[in-house]
Amino acid sequence: MQNKIHLLPQDLINKIAAGEVIERPASILKELLENSIDAEADDIQISLDKSGLERITISDNGTGLSSEEVVLAFTQHATSKINSQNDLNKITTLGFRGEALSSISSISSVTVQSYNGIDRPVLYQIEDTGNEILIGQGRNRGTTIIIQNIFSKMPVRRKFLKSETTEYKYFLDYFISIAIGNPTVKFDLTKNNRLIYSLKKTSSFSERIFQIFNTIKGNDFFPVDYKNGNFQISGLIGQPQIARNINNYQYIFLNGRFIKNPLIHKAIKEGFATAIMKNLEPPYFLFFTINPDEVDVNVHPRKLEVRFNNPGFIYSTTKNQIIKTIEKGLQNNISIFSNKDKNTNFINKGFKNKSASINFTKNILHDTQQIESALSSSELIRSSKNALQVFDTYLIFEKGEKILIIDQHAMHERINFEKIVDQFEKEQNLTAQGLLIPLNIKVNDLTKEQIFSNDKFLRQIGFEFNIIGNSLVINQIPNLLPINRISEIFLKILSELELTEGEGGLNWTDIKNKVLATIACHISIRAGQKLEPYIISQLVSDLIKCKLPYSCPHGRPFFWEISKEEMERNFKR
Ligand code: ADP
Ligand code: MG
Repeated sequence: MQNKIHLLPQDLINKIAAGEVIERPASILKELLENSIDAEADDIQISLDKSGLERITISDNGTGLSSEEVVLAFTQHATSKINSQNDLNKITTLGFRGEALSSISSISSVTVQSYNGIDRPVLYQIEDTGNEILIGQGRNRGTTIIIQNIFSKMPVRRKFLKSETTEYKYFLDYFISIAIGNPTVKFDLTKNNRLIYSLKKTSSFSERIFQIFNTIKGNDFFPVDYKNGNFQISGLIGQPQIARNINNYQYIFLNGRFIKNPLIHKAIKEGFATAIMKNLEPPYFLFFTINPDEVDVNVHPRKLEVRFNNPGFIYSTTKNQIIKTIEKGLQNNISIFSNKDKNTNFINKGFKNKSASINFTKNILHDTQQIESALSSSELIRSSKNALQVFDTYLIFEKGEKILIIDQHAMHERINFEKIVDQFEKEQNLTAQGLLIPLNIKVNDLTKEQIFSNDKFLRQIGFEFNIIGNSLVINQIPNLLPINRISEIFLKILSELELTEGEGGLNWTDIKNKVLATIACHISIRAGQKLEPYIISQLVSDLIKCKLPYSCPHGRPFFWEISKEEMERNFKR
């Protein structure tokens, strides 16, 4: 080592701290938003120029700062939030390390306007060339901070920034997580002079979530509500059928602070394990409340990570609550809406996610002609007598120079789907069966309304029912539906009928087909069911009559061909 040991100059210390706290421009937004919320603001205006890379402006109506406080706020380790070691064990504010403002000012130009309602308004400017404090213009109580020339003093960091679009995504991520965590705060976000979000104050987390994401809707979620002493979990989890293979909509909050926590995420996924396929991601918005001294929030400079004193308890409680919520939700149709929410229009915002709509007519997975030739031949009917059923799930046929492996459930679904669509088109009705013992389901007001507004169609597909008080009494159902699953199926159909029609959404035929596909699914042979040879023959001859024998009505392929040649290649013959 050549150099002598020496203390680092303050400016360099700040820059090193900034490297940890301010990873990218969006981190500035996060820190400033947290400060505004800590300052008890309930109205926050954000404006991003050049998606935030040129200028970030945040105005709040919080407590404001005096001229002495403003100067102090920008020195390192200056905070009004903790005083002693003891305070570190019970953090209730979002900030507390006192590093953000000094870090931000070490890598950018800062202008602050503030008024605390008592002292004179201040204007504070921090530039490369020096700092200047002036008497500011009159304004309402609160603080405005303008950040410019971000990373101009750290060219290396500037170089690593991604495109404007990518950086903007990070801005949005922080904005959204903070907006969800603070529903009682009004937020306006303007980007390049365009208003992107205008979120009204609300007392309900779920309403805030639906204000932000207009592609998701309440009926797709189950409410989580657990309390044990000081430990609490509340929020929403997506119903199993809305899980997708992207991890959008996964948010964990701890004592109001958005966190990333692999332990809790794993517990949630474990809770969903039997309800969804492994590769799918359940949406969730969960708010954990825990004694501040049970958790260390000071393990990460950006305070995104935390450490629990009792991780085992957090893990098992979370997992168990997820399992309970799913079970209870599927049984009881708990709607997250109380009566008073009924009139708010976010209920009606539809599921406009295109990828979620089902394509009933197009075969995307197979070459149509190839399949037609595979099926049309009478050879298949003949060979069905020698079909082999394996795993009680797949049927294997020999057909000419090929073997054909068919998924029995998906095939039967296709057959039944076409039969009932056909019947419904011709007769406007489906065959129904009466119930000896009527089925009683508890329903809330929202569900009742959904039933009333779909009354005709529900009766057309075979349901007969009365609503008495809060009970739905069903005495007739579509033919062959499994009686022990009627309430689940009925509610699923209701939620499908809620799908919005119109632009970017589904049309009525899509919605109707979705419902008929649900019925087809439930009256079909399951995986795991042993089949007699005559049933297999019947299935094959039914299949050959299908118009679109390419995939099940949900778009999954149901067969797989392996040629003799391919087998020979594999066996190196
Ligand atoms: P921390 O939030 O960890 O305390 P910061 O560097 O982010 O540290 O802020 C320093 C201090 O400046 C805060 O403790 C707070 O007293 C004050 N402050 C920052 N932003 C605001 C604001 N928008 N309104 C009022 N006070 C603020
Ligand atoms: Mg702060």
